[in-house]
Amino acid sequence: MARFTLPRDLYHGKGSLAELKNLTGKKAIVVVGGGSMKRFGFLDKAVSYLKEAGMEVTLFENVEPDPSVETVMRGAKVMQEFEPDWIVAMGGGSPIDAAKAMWAFYEYPETTFEDLITPFSFPTLRTKAKFCAIPSTSGTATEVTAFSVITDYEKGIKYPLADFNITPDVAIVDPELAETMPKKLTAHTGMDAMTHAIEAYVSTLHCDYTDPLALHAIKMIHNDLIASFNGDMEARDRMHNAQCLAGMAFSNALLGIVHSMAHKTGAAFSGGHIVHGCANAMYLPKVIKYNAKNEEAAVRYGEIASFIGLKGDTTEALVDALIAELKSMNQALEIPSCIKDYEGGSIDETEFMTKLPEVAALAIGDACTGSNPRIPTQEEMEKLLKACFYDEEIDF
Ligand code: FE
Repeated sequence: MARFTLPRDLYHGKGSLAELKNLTGKKAIVVVGGGSMKRFGFLDKAVSYLKEAGMEVTLFENVEPDPSVETVMRGAKVMQEFEPDWIVAMGGGSPIDAAKAMWAFYEYPETTFEDLITPFSFPTLRTKAKFCAIPSTSGTATEVTAFSVITDYEKGIKYPLADFNITPDVAIVDPELAETMPKKLTAHTGMDAMTHAIEAYVSTLHCDYTDPLALHAIKMIHNDLIASFNGDMEARDRMHNAQCLAGMAFSNALLGIVHSMAHKTGAAFSGGHIVHGCANAMYLPKVIKYNAKNEEAAVRYGEIASFIGLKGDTTEALVDALIAELKSMNQALEIPSCIKDYEGGSIDETEFMTKLPEVAALAIGDACTGSNPRIPTQEEMEKLLKACFYDEEIDF
């Protein structure tokens, strides 16, 4: 038995933000991030649509990137006092992720993060409120997924929350919001979405319901991401749908070790964060080469290559063509080919090598490793990460 869950309603296309007018309820809380939604006028629009729907509206603003436990608890408290029947989260991944966790603590004030971190063990939500998510970046697809990541800065832990209870009820995928993304964010979030789709397609949990979503997302991202990066707003609009399709696939098929490695290298080094989407983009070609030693995975990478029009006489040739194509996309998107070249060499080589065994062990233990087509040994994971640092060839 397997389960496939998506939001009940998904509104898409320019101007779909106005669908907020048609929500029925008495009170809505709008959860937003640092200010771009306000600056570009989308927050005001959202509030006035909700008022048009006859709702009383309050705001919870300034959710930080990589939202903290404290922010979640503050938001949940505001919700407990205001008692909304709609939670409307808008912005990049962070405010939406934060709002998902606030939702759980609003409905169950006595619960703890420790209770929630066991995957698929949430209490039943929607006893107090429903959830509407409106993304402003084209990458995480948190508007359609069962996931949220909250950081405990005091303990230095990231809590990955996973449960179909936090899959939103309504997603509004309005491309106008994503048109405000800066260039670099467009590249990083776009390759994050590409990684979601490719990892979902080769995941051990992929199924007939997730495969078409993943393949179509890959084709669209392959066609549109570079143009979107270079300012083509029609391509940018299509990317907003593409990333959402990728999200529908990976929310149900889960991911693989590209994400395990990105999660655990992201904040491990004193030279600064390795941005999630950029990490994925750098590691993906290496992981494909590694995973392709698994015959079934190789065939599926070959299917992806053929589906996007790449040529090759053998499975191996198709896999290599896919890897080459992804590398050339990275180049066009001004993404470095390895960690050594990231942000002008901000990640120190000695620190990286010292921490390598620990980071590798953590990556193997990441929640995304279980659905990867090949389970790496400690030695293999260390070799993989090293190859991602120096841009070395994978032959194991
Ligand atoms: Fe991701």
